[in-house]
Amino acid sequence: MKYAVISDVHANLDALLAVLKDIREKKIKKNIFLGDAVGYGPEPDECVDVLKTECSVMLAGNHDWAVLGLTEIEHFNPIAKEAILWAREKISRETISILKTLSISKEIEDKKILLVHSTPKEPEKWHYLLTLWDAEINFHCFDNRICLLGHSHYPLIIERLPSGEMSTHRNSAKLSAENRYIVNVGSVGQPRDGDPRACYAIIDEEFVNIYRVQYDVEKTQGKMRSYGLPEPLIERLKRGL
Ligand code: ZN
Repeated sequence: MKYAVISDVHANLDALLAVLKDIREKKIKKNIFLGDAVGYGPEPDECVDVLKTECSVMLAGNHDWAVLGLTEIEHFNPIAKEAILWAREKISRETISILKTLSISKEIEDKKILLVHSTPKEPEKWHYLLTLWDAEINFHCFDNRICLLGHSHYPLIIERLPSGEMSTHRNSAKLSAENRYIVNVGSVGQPRDGDPRACYAIIDEEFVNIYRVQYDVEKTQGKMRSYGLPEPLIERLKRGL
């Protein structure tokens, strides 16, 4: 078992291609995508097309559902909503038909690993897992050893001992057979942890590692401006916030 795990591409093709190149250089053969292919960025069709070709497992996220009209966008902030409305106009029928086939969670590796975009608890409600208290609640909502997720755009590894004690790891963790894990793999296309580089994870039997990859942010920003996407979405890519 060895997977590259990517999430929250958000129609940022330059970031996606940079990450896939990095994965190829590391000789990883299997890619998993945890959802939010579209929303925010300038190239939704291209990203969905590349993800479909490159990933053996693909989930849907809340932005994918929002574009399909499967989730309400009233609770989206006005800027995210504007980007969703733009994407609905822009994306092709082919992209829509691909997004419609995606589920929002999946078990792999003989149920050892749970994949979900948001949280094991009520994945269709798109909760955020941000604190250790959120983690504690969620550890009781799945029985797989490892849960890989995205959604918050904030990479983090949470380890839970059989005693219930928890610890967090920022960039890497050695996986112990007795412990359970929730791994947020961060965001490829719109990191929010103050580091603008694209983010993804590699997991095998023994380790999980978070990687950062430089990409041409200005190029993506130029494409977004040419489509008239909201300026705060363009500007935040540079800051990674
Ligand atoms: Zn997202």
